Amino acid sequence: MAAAGPAEVVVVGSCMTDLVSLTTRLPKAGETIHGHKFFIGFGGKGANQCIQAARLGAKTLMICKVGKDSFGNDYIENFKRNGISTGQNVIVIVAGANLLLDSEDLKRAANAICKAKVIICQLEITPAISLEALKMAYSNGVKTLFNPAPAHAELDPQFYTHSDIFCCNESEAEILTGIPVGSPEDAGKVGLVLLERGCKLVIVTLGAEGCVMISVDEPIPKHVPAGKVRAVDTTGAGDSFVGALAFFMACYPNLSMEEVIRKSNFIASVSVQASGTQSSYPYRKELPQDLF
Ligand code: ADP
Repeated sequence: MAAAGPAEVVVVGSCMTDLVSLTTRLPKAGETIHGHKFFIGFGGKGANQCIQAARLGAKTLMICKVGKDSFGNDYIENFKRNGISTGQNVIVIVAGANLLLDSEDLKRAANAICKAKVIICQLEITPAISLEALKMAYSNGVKTLFNPAPAHAELDPQFYTHSDIFCCNESEAEILTGIPVGSPEDAGKVGLVLLERGCKLVIVTLGAEGCVMISVDEPIPKHVPAGKVRAVDTTGAGDSFVGALAFFMACYPNLSMEEVIRKSNFIASVSVQASGTQSSYPYRKELPQDLF
């Protein structure tokens, strides 16, 4: 069950149910082929990030919309199993429920948003609603962690000015700035551009290379490498990383950002060693206890 008291990490974002077939190749138009495995997975960037933060031990709250169908019901059960509060669920009957999260829903959740330590937003819901949530949190002194995924080239400039932490991957970085990212040096260049746009601290994740951070306080790019691991499935690694960042920022406010990033790299690198998205996210009890 969710712990009592205000949520430390609030996520305003998406839930998706992934229906996955494994095949040796893609079918051509009009062709039917046999898959060798089928499974249903819980996904959606917002929910993934929330699940990772909860598994590490943060009190979490998810603000989202799900459909009034078996997928929606199963998703709510998934949140409960992971100890995440969902508060009031406003349920609708269309598949694209994520896009129906609106200002009224945010107003109903305003108390939780304003009392959080960290809020996380992405772009899988209506961008204007993400921005509204970010601004609501920012103006109340809540740390804002924005993950511009999936990236839009024409991002509202207020996303930059209302992000305490702006965390993107290589391809998102390129869409936003036009700078192709293939190395920590390139990521540093992106970081400088995004600082100029108003972000306070930028993190560009680089897969197996870890990430690069840069901040207004220290505008020199710093590469924070990830440990070497045998990756079996990197799906959702970025969300594991973002969820871990929020957890450490909320629950260990005295850690330096570099230390928070180092620990988050470690957690995301654990997630790539198992298959699936949420199914690969580690629980606190499975991790070395000196991380906490
Ligand atoms: P996304 O999933 O958004 O594409 P990345 O691939 O950049 O994000 O991965 C996010 C984080 O996950 C990285 O910064 C790193 O900490 C970790 N990670 C991803 N791939 C690996 C890998 N092969 N080995 C170790 N860590 C990894």
